Amino acid sequence: MCSIFDRTIYPDPESEKAIMGSVVYCIHHKEGCQWSDELRKLKAHLNTCKHDAVLCAAQCGAMIPRVLMQDHLRYTCPRRRANCEHCAKEFSGSALEEHQGNCGHEPVYCENKCGAKVQRRHTQQHLQQHCSKRLVPCRHCGQRYTQDTVGAHGASCARAPVPCPQRCAAAPARDELDAHLRDHCAAASLPCAYRDAGCRFKGTRQALDRHIEESCQAHLALVCGVATRQARQLESLRSALAKLALNQSGALVWRISDFAAKMAEAKCKEGVELVSPAFYTSQYGYKLQASLFLNGNGAGESTHMSVYIKILPGEYDALLRWPFAHTVSFTLFDQSSTPDRACNMVESFVPDPTWKNFQRPSKEPDALGFGFPRFVSHEMLKKRNFVKDDVLFLRVKVDPSKIVAV
Ligand SMILES: [Zn+2]
Ligand SMILES: [Zn+2]
Ligand SMILES: [Zn+2]
Ligand SMILES: [Zn+2]
Ligand SMILES: [Zn+2]
Ligand SMILES: [Zn+2]
Ligand SMILES: [Zn+2]
Repeated sequence: MCSIFDRTIYPDPESEKAIMGSVVYCIHHKEGCQWSDELRKLKAHLNTCKHDAVLCAAQCGAMIPRVLMQDHLRYTCPRRRANCEHCAKEFSGSALEEHQGNCGHEPVYCENKCGAKVQRRHTQQHLQQHCSKRLVPCRHCGQRYTQDTVGAHGASCARAPVPCPQRCAAAPARDELDAHLRDHCAAASLPCAYRDAGCRFKGTRQALDRHIEESCQAHLALVCGVATRQARQLESLRSALAKLALNQSGALVWRISDFAAKMAEAKCKEGVELVSPAFYTSQYGYKLQASLFLNGNGAGESTHMSVYIKILPGEYDALLRWPFAHTVSFTLFDQSSTPDRACNMVESFVPDPTWKNFQRPSKEPDALGFGFPRFVSHEMLKKRNFVKDDVLFLRVKVDPSKIVAV
């Protein structure tokens, strides 16, 4: 019942009659009801006013204006009957609200974002069998890729088989192709193992086996040729090396080992001469050689050790000045363990230009050179540490200046 009747209309019973006869608008005038009549007819009007609220016809308990009842019953009443638009099953309103979001027939987007829409009940099957974003193993290498990229991976997969470029029947894995071509391909053209010796044969593995069997003689001849060429090269290398090893410093330190045995030999045989390695005074200089008579020679025979220097025919003699005019010094080292007390024996000379020893040597040089027959006496040899551990050191030094260096 409307509040107008309760509080405004009844407080004064005396004037009820007059009031009931007054003209009023329907209480739903603002909502759009055009009804207007005496107040006493209002109650009857409200029984049919389409804007007045009445209990839901489906007894959900809600008060609904008559004009909205159709909508309410169809769309919002929890007790309405309705069909799911996806599965077409009939539900009560509240059950349908629960059903929505769970209906197995509703198409939903794939959670892997492949872009596909599938019915909710089929999503598991889609993810496992059809989704383009599902992970599948590469059938060659076993690595997992999404289904839509595994094909592209195959084009570079190291384990995928590729056709042999030599067109043999094999299809080796991509990462084994090199080994296949090198070691296994039946169609590969291989060079003969004697290629470096000069054989030009090339052929398949089979043809090569046959060639090797048939070409023993030819191969042997090739290898022989190689050996000959190498021997020649070796020879020229050896002489180049000897040239490089030649002393060109102008100073020779001559080490005489087994001194006692050599001295004993010199004492019992006549004219035993020790000769040093040849050496050059400079890179393109004179070629010299020292000689040593342990038991002396000439004026020093049996009492002294004699030293001489010989000029040997050298490669650059034609370009050098003659006679030879460099100062030559001989030093016998005192090998005392206290270097301060060591006292070396030194002798030197400036060549006399009139001596024939200092002219350009012929191919057959003199047996004896120029030097000191009485270089050091046998007595002196014993006094100091000239011989130590049975070794004696003699330095021969050539100095381009003419000053005697002592
Ligand atoms: Zn009304
Ligand atoms: Zn209802
Ligand atoms: Zn449904
Ligand atoms: Zn998918
Ligand atoms: Zn792969
Ligand atoms: Zn092949
Ligand atoms: Zn061959």
